[in-house]
Order: sequence, then structure tokens, then C-alpha cells
Amino acid sequence: CGIIARIGHGDATETLLSGLENLEYRGYDSAGIAVQNGSGVKVRKCSGEVDELKSSVERGLHGNMGIGHTRWSTHGPPTDENAHPHTDTVGDVAVVHNGVIDNYDELRAELQERGHEFDSDTDTEVIPHLIDEYREETGDTEQAVREAVKTLEGSYAIAAIVDGEERVYAARKGSPLVLGLDDEEWYLASDVPAFLEHTDEVIYLEDGDLVVLEPDSYRITDVAGNPIERSVDTVDWDP
Ligand code: GLU
Repeated sequence: CGIIARIGHGDATETLLSGLENLEYRGYDSAGIAVQNGSGVKVRKCSGEVDELKSSVERGLHGNMGIGHTRWSTHGPPTDENAHPHTDTVGDVAVVHNGVIDNYDELRAELQERGHEFDSDTDTEVIPHLIDEYREETGDTEQAVREAVKTLEGSYAIAAIVDGEERVYAARKGSPLVLGLDDEEWYLASDVPAFLEHTDEVIYLEDGDLVVLEPDSYRITDVAGNPIERSVDTVDWDP
């Protein structure tokens, strides 16, 4: 139901957790984050309140980039396993998702036939597995995200991180996603209040947009990989 992502030079964990709290007004039944810090992608997630997630994160979880999610279940009950982020079989790719993947059933069956192991009942979990598979095929994560997105039917705002890459990948179709631009860091969220305490400079992404965020740059493309220019707006409401 709510997405937050952040990449920059300091620690991301606090920003992700406060971003999730700022999105609580949207309603949710589970919450989770994934960060990456050079020693792999680390996921913490649980059903229940962001407060509960916070106490598990206090036991150590740091990185300069990460993704976070508050879930409003559509496929699978609100359990710890069904909370986002979801990963591929070995845990190299972590994804948060808002929306509904209509063709997840057939995608999941195909992926399972090819040896992918699933941990949840969600429609979302096919996404990290697809990205993983296309990465193996193409050797290029950005292209893999584009290919994965092309096979999805339904609605989505997604954000993904990948082991060993200082990048956040994101895409949207039918679910909102907004980019926040600060001097030292970039944010992505389903709604401006998630990061408004940090910046009021935003780019409202449109359906079909893909984004790659790096610590010092960002770029927006269409699903074919062609660059897209979007204007920067200043939000004129108070946090
Ligand atoms: N369909 C996904 C799920 O049930 C995402 C729901 C959401 O937008 O929070 O996990």
C-alpha cells in the first residue's frame, strides 16, 4: 500500500522507517525494509505495526540505500512471510510492490518449473524471481528490470535493490510513484508525505516510467530504455 526508497551517502534505515510511519495514514497490515551495505541484501519484515518492525531493526541493520513497504494484502493473508520486501531464491534481488499482478499465477507456475522456490502466497514474489532470471539471461540488471516489467500484467509501483549494486531500480504502471530530490540523496515513494520532511523538490512519475537511482545521479526511461525528461515540481504544502 505504501512504498519508500532512499539512496544517498548516510545511513538509510532511519529515513526508511520514518518514511513508512509517514505513510501509515494510507492503512496497512504489515511492514518491512531491505537495505544493502556491501555484505548482501538484508531484509526485515513482519505483520503488524511499523513499531514492531522498528524494534527488530534496532538489533542492527544499516546501509546507505534501501527500500521499504507497508502492505495492504490483496493476495495471501497478512503474515510475516507475505510481508514485503520479497526476494528471489538466493536473496540477491529484493522488491517492494504496490498493486496487483493479474498474471502472477501462470508466471509463478512457469518460474517454479524452471527451479525457482517461492516463500510466500503473494502475487508480488514473481517479480524478484523474474528480475533474477532476466539478469542471468542478459547480464544487465537495468535491462532485466525492463524485461520483467514487460511480462507483468496488472498494476504496479515497484522498487528493487540488488546485491552488489549501489542502485535503486523502480517502475510504475497504474500505481503512484514520486521521486524526491534532495542535495545529498534521492527518495522514491508512493506519496509525497513519505519524504516531505527532507525535500519538497519532486518529479511525479508517469505510467510506463522506469527509474534508476544512484548516489549522485538518477535517470528516467521508458520500457524500451529510451531516456525521458520529466519536470521538477516544488510541493507547496507544509510537512
Ligand atoms: N498485491 C500485493 C500483496 O498482496 C501488494 C499489496 C499492496 O499494494 O500493499 O502483497
